[in-house]
Amino acid sequence: MVHLPQRCEALVLRLTSYGESDVIVTLFTADHGLQKGFAKSARKSRKRFGAALEPFTKAVFQWKKGRGSFWLLQDSELISSHLGLRSDLHHLALASYGVELVSLLLEEGEPHQIIYELLCSFLDYLEQGGDGLIARLLFELRLIYLLGYMPHLLHCSECLKIFTNEPVRFDAQRGGSLCLDCAGSTGISVDLGTIGSLARSLKVTYRQFDGFLFGPKTLQQAGLILNQVLQQVLPREPKSLKFLSQL
Ligand SMILES: [Zn+2]
Repeated sequence: MVHLPQRCEALVLRLTSYGESDVIVTLFTADHGLQKGFAKSARKSRKRFGAALEPFTKAVFQWKKGRGSFWLLQDSELISSHLGLRSDLHHLALASYGVELVSLLLEEGEPHQIIYELLCSFLDYLEQGGDGLIARLLFELRLIYLLGYMPHLLHCSECLKIFTNEPVRFDAQRGGSLCLDCAGSTGISVDLGTIGSLARSLKVTYRQFDGFLFGPKTLQQAGLILNQVLQQVLPREPKSLKFLSQL
């Protein structure tokens, strides 16, 4: 059976050298989700792939179906190299973290168009010198939401009481926010303002990172909340997180 070449836009997430001159490329595409591509002789001749085979690059790839689930990459047309990320170590570490979260949380071959757009917008915002803390908060929050892992926020996850003005605790293992009666001594204390901000942020289009403003307390508490949720759903701790926390 002859396979005709196909084309699609993709982000390059990871490159692994294979043999003497080949490269295995982890791609993220809107239509086909995560995919592994095989770039033959990519390290010998840069003619076919040019600058497209770098992490965080967005390009149109031409590919043929290979054996198993691998794509045989034929050539590429660069759209954006996201070169600006490389001028700021913190932004570069955040970009690596975002890419690693997507690689860890998505199944290979499952299409996730909105998450593809989210990751592209996250990288674009960081490249343009956006606020790293805001970028991380919005990216983690939206990813958790879009994958269906969103905890209860504005009401108690056990007695379902809607919060109005009372103290709230948060425990991802017990489903999210808890009133003091239900919480007992578990979870962390969070402000209603913080969980309100998280809920409101989800009402904005996933591509938008500009125009958000969070106070230091909200950023700190939101970080703890999102970290608890991610620890529950990630198969292992992201390697890039260690590097990020050292910066
Ligand atoms: Zn309760």
